[in-house]
Amino acid sequence: MKGLVIFKRIYWGLLLLSTSANAQWYQHSFEVMGTMSHVEFWLDNSEVEKEQAINDKADTLIQVVKQEMIRIDQQMSPYIEQSELSKINREAGVKAVKISQELFDLLIIAQNISTLSDGAFDITYASIGYQYNYREQKRPNQQAIIEALPLIDYASVQLESSKLTVRYTSDQVKIDLGGIAKGYAVKRCLALLKSAGVQNALVSAGGDTGLLGDRYGRPWLVAIKHPRAENKNAAVIPLTNEAISTSGDYERYFVEDGVRYHHIINPKTGDSARKVVSVSIIGDDPTYVDALSTTVFVKGLTVGMQLINNLDNFEAIIIDNKQRLHFSNGLQQ
Ligand code: ADP
Ligand code: MG
Repeated sequence: MKGLVIFKRIYWGLLLLSTSANAQWYQHSFEVMGTMSHVEFWLDNSEVEKEQAINDKADTLIQVVKQEMIRIDQQMSPYIEQSELSKINREAGVKAVKISQELFDLLIIAQNISTLSDGAFDITYASIGYQYNYREQKRPNQQAIIEALPLIDYASVQLESSKLTVRYTSDQVKIDLGGIAKGYAVKRCLALLKSAGVQNALVSAGGDTGLLGDRYGRPWLVAIKHPRAENKNAAVIPLTNEAISTSGDYERYFVEDGVRYHHIINPKTGDSARKVVSVSIIGDDPTYVDALSTTVFVKGLTVGMQLINNLDNFEAIIIDNKQRLHFSNGLQQ
C-alpha cells in the first residue's frame, strides 16, 4: 500500500472520459443483483487480430461477465424462489440439505468471518433483516426484534463438509448473503476475464470493486462516495491488482423521527449499526473485502479498525459520524 495518495472530489465520469476514442478499452454497465454493475477492460490488439475480431471478443467477454453475475444472482438471491439459497431457507430447518460445492464454500467463508468478528458478520441476521423494507419505510417493532434475536446465531447453520450439506438448528432460522455475494460475484468475473487472457480489468457490483492489473500503466482510481452529499466523493483511492468494498448507511435507508434505519444490521441488537457512516476495505480477495466492510461497519471505528490492523493484507478507510476519515496503519505511511 505504498505511495497512497488521496485525491479529493475527482469523479468517475471524468476519469472515464480520459479514455481516448480509439483506445482498446471496453466498458459496459448493467443492472443485476438489485444494483448497478460495471465492467471495464483492456484488450491488446498489437498482434494480428483485426479490429472487428477484437471488438467481437470484447462483446463476448462483456456477456460472460454479465451472465456470471446473473448466474450467481439466480443461485444466491433470497428474492428468487427457485434459487439454491431460497431452497435452503425453506428446507434446512427441517432436514440436512445437499448443496453445491460453490455455495458450501461461500458459507464456510461467511462462517469464518462470523468467528473472526465475534458475530458482527452473521448471515442469520436475516430473521430480522427480512422484516425491514427500506423502500416502504417499514421496520420491526421492539417486540418483533426481541422475538427474532435468539434466531440470529451463525452457529445455528451446521455445515457438513463430507456430505456437502447444510442444516439449521431451527425452522425459524433464515440466511441472507447480501453482505458477501456481490464480492464473490466480482471475484468470479475477474477470474473469468483473467482466464480469457485479460490482464487489465475492473469489475464492480454496487460498492464492491475488483481490479486486475492497472489502467494503462497507472493505478486504477476508485471513488469512495461522500456519505452525505450525492455526486460528491469523500476520497479517490489509487489501486492496482486489488479489491475494495464500501459499505455505507446511505445506500438503502429511511429516516424516522430523526433516526436513520439502513441495511447494515447489528446482529446483537437487531437495529441498524450507527457507530460509523461508511467503511471501505482494501485487500486481495473481493469476497473477503465485501464481508469485512459490512463487519467493520457493525463493529464501529475503534474495534473495527483494530480488527483490520490485526489482519495482514487488509486496510480500512472509515468515515465516522462527524464525517472524519480514518485510515488503518498500512495506509498511514
Ligand atoms: P451493499 O449491499 O450496499 O454492498 P454491504 O456490503 O455492506 O452493502 O452489505 C449490506 C448487506 O449485507 C445488507 O443489505 C444485508 O443483505 C447484509 N447484512 C446486513 N447486516 C449484516 C450482518 N450483520 N452480517 C451479515 N450480513 C449483513
Ligand atoms: Mg460488504
